[in-house]
Amino acid sequence: MKTKNRSNGEGHSYETPVRNGIRQVELSFVIPVYNEEETLDELTSRILEHVPDPEAIEIIFIDDGSTDDSWMVIEALADVHEVVRGIKFRGNRGKAAGLQAGFDAAVGNIVFTMDADLQDDPQEIPRFLDKIEDGYDLVSGWKKVRHDPWHKVLPSRIFNRMLSYCSGVHLHDHNCGFKCYRSEVTKTVKLYGELHRMVPSLAGMEGFRVSEIPVQHHARQHGKSKYGIERFIRGFSDMLTIGFLRKYKERPSHFANTWAAGYMSIGSVLVLTGVICGAALVKGLVLILTGLVFLAIAAVTTTSGLFCELLVRKNVEVQAALPEIAQTVGDVNALTLPMTDVRGGRTAKV
Ligand code: UDP
Ligand code: MG
Repeated sequence: MKTKNRSNGEGHSYETPVRNGIRQVELSFVIPVYNEEETLDELTSRILEHVPDPEAIEIIFIDDGSTDDSWMVIEALADVHEVVRGIKFRGNRGKAAGLQAGFDAAVGNIVFTMDADLQDDPQEIPRFLDKIEDGYDLVSGWKKVRHDPWHKVLPSRIFNRMLSYCSGVHLHDHNCGFKCYRSEVTKTVKLYGELHRMVPSLAGMEGFRVSEIPVQHHARQHGKSKYGIERFIRGFSDMLTIGFLRKYKERPSHFANTWAAGYMSIGSVLVLTGVICGAALVKGLVLILTGLVFLAIAAVTTTSGLFCELLVRKNVEVQAALPEIAQTVGDVNALTLPMTDVRGGRTAKV
């Protein structure tokens, strides 16, 4: 395989592999789009301006059921620029679904995600690449100076602190749309619902190395934000999911039984107290009945924990999951093993 050295004029040199005379896609840009017709043209030009090799990239726009002319703009851009591709959803499925479709389609070794509204600045691209070259698997942007209203910035600061604590991945800005990944991350992490806010946490849970760099952030010039105050309620709910998954993903019955033990203790104490008071007395009867309700809740909690174990077991069987292996030596069938390289990042199953 031949390689070409390119520089983007900002001191960042980059090697573009050439196979059979065709330049390979090195960088994939995954950009979810929901009613952003005004910015797509300029965003494309600015990305092309700031990448090390404009012919070795792909820009994948995922139109998330826009009701404006975004799709027409994407089609026009794809006509003009060979590197532009578009995916269109039938309806609005949300940013996470858009990112996941882009991750599935991307072929570059390095994948960028960016918002389509030009709040993220493509001139930061080389800095992300430098950080990836330092050995990180995911580099997240940090909107250190943020150009959003205070009622968005303040809850977001609290959210980031709490999520860092719950997930064990300590970032100032988990939800920045501008991120750079090794493709192993984008092929491993699965996004659904509104988990687009949780990508660094999910990657961290998989053992990938996550870092962040401060990035320039601009105020929205066109269109309007697609998220209101409800984002925080949903975000906090997803945070609970992440906290739970991090600890109990493979042993949900331990979680269920911790609660069941609590209910059972309360129930037993109530029943015993009721018996001591005398079942014939109203007070005793009420205590016994309340105790029995707690014991029933304990039984239901334990049973649901067991059902969750069944689901985990099924999942393990389907994926034929093996414990993460750091290295092998000799004639091991590496093609079937989910490997972890020496840096701790998992390489994709081949
Ligand atoms: N977006 C999307 N589907 C949605 C909502 C948003 O694809 O249902 C895209 C949107 O077009 C933008 C990015 O996700 O490219 C971030 O959205 P927005 O700028 O509204 O979020 P904010 O900057 O206000 O957090
Ligand atoms: Mg925005």
